[in-house]
Amino acid sequence: MTASPLWHPYAQMQTQSPALKVVGGQGAHFTLENGESLLDATCSWWCMIHGYSHPRLIDALKDQADSLCHVMLGGLTHEPANQLAAALVRITPAGLNHVFFSDSGSVGMEVAMKMAVQYQVQRGRPGKHRLLSLMRAYHGDTTGCMAVCDPEEGMHSLFAGYLPRHHFAPAPTAPFDAPGEAVEGDIQALREVLEAHHQEIAALLMEPLLQAAGGLNMTSPYYVQAARELCDEFDVLLVFDEVATGFGRTGRMFAAEHADVTPDIMVLSKGLTGGYLGHAATLATDKVYGAFLSEDPGHAFMHGPTFMGNPLACRVALESLAVFEEEDYLGKIATLNAILRQELVADERLCRHPAVNDVRALGATAVIEVKDAASLKGVQGFARQHGVWLRPFGRWLYTMPAYITTPDEMRQITDVMKGWFSATANSG
Ligand SMILES: *Cc1c(COP(=O)(O)O)cnc(C)c1O
Repeated sequence: MTASPLWHPYAQMQTQSPALKVVGGQGAHFTLENGESLLDATCSWWCMIHGYSHPRLIDALKDQADSLCHVMLGGLTHEPANQLAAALVRITPAGLNHVFFSDSGSVGMEVAMKMAVQYQVQRGRPGKHRLLSLMRAYHGDTTGCMAVCDPEEGMHSLFAGYLPRHHFAPAPTAPFDAPGEAVEGDIQALREVLEAHHQEIAALLMEPLLQAAGGLNMTSPYYVQAARELCDEFDVLLVFDEVATGFGRTGRMFAAEHADVTPDIMVLSKGLTGGYLGHAATLATDKVYGAFLSEDPGHAFMHGPTFMGNPLACRVALESLAVFEEEDYLGKIATLNAILRQELVADERLCRHPAVNDVRALGATAVIEVKDAASLKGVQGFARQHGVWLRPFGRWLYTMPAYITTPDEMRQITDVMKGWFSATANSG
């Protein structure tokens, strides 16, 4: 047992070895107190898209700290919040014209759900007070979010009795590049749930194209398009949780762009500040926003996290976006994707390995899915010996690198991921 008072996330504190102590970082690497440097294949839970110690982000933070670290957004505003709201409207799919800030992805999703339900009440449909989510979804760890995560495998089944009940459609199964016909079964399954329950459904929530924490399930743009059409048909709002997929992770700025779809509400977080501070944005269309406009003060959106629109977070998010656009990050992501495909997806030996179920990649994301979680036991230590930080979960050994990861570093990561399966002891 460790003597530290620090309680770690998702950790069995009795048996887990002590957490490694990080003292700094540079580029795609972080440094431990013993001087060991590890190449971060996860960019710190998918948010440190510029890597560690990016000089422009640090300067922006320092400069902002000199003028204004924080002020409430209730009745007040400031330039970084105004500018970031405008920038997000500019870069997100056309029609998302209103921005509500909060402090984390989970809270951003709570805001989205509350907005959807209140929207339905204010347009005279109070019976539409439940949500529709997908199996394998992950939308966060707060209570409202837990209730829309996969109820069987989503880490929260323990709380089933405590959580409100929503509806779930089957997880889409057709892969990203499936032809249209191959997606019809998934679409039909979604339609059936809407047909049966639309009268009580306020919104359909989805992680477009990439169900991330639910096992890196990469799905088809046709499914996303069909979801838009079905939501219109059944008078249900469409909410995209782009907390993980936003800011380039799927190869486009937002996953919605692959399908050319505008959701009614969209949530951004992880990559928003380049990972340098916790923050989130919930965007809404004029249609949603309009339902809150009234002479009645009771129709206002009654939500306001203390730290929403924090000036430091907004300022570093603006700088993150500027670097992203000026330094052709989408080009860098395409380069990383080509390496991930060549080194993992096209590797016959890896794909045919008896322990391996599937190997797939989308944008700057790749995963080796194994048949049995046991065959990943020990992989984290193996990777560390080769200078790489991997953090697999369940049956998924994945990488979501920082976009500044160099081609050589990317190959170092894929070599370690493959290397685990060519070491004879791990043949499944
Ligand atoms: C990480 C994540 C969240 C939760 O974000 P937090 O900042 O951890 O609260 C929500 N949705 C998706 C898709 C995520 O990947």
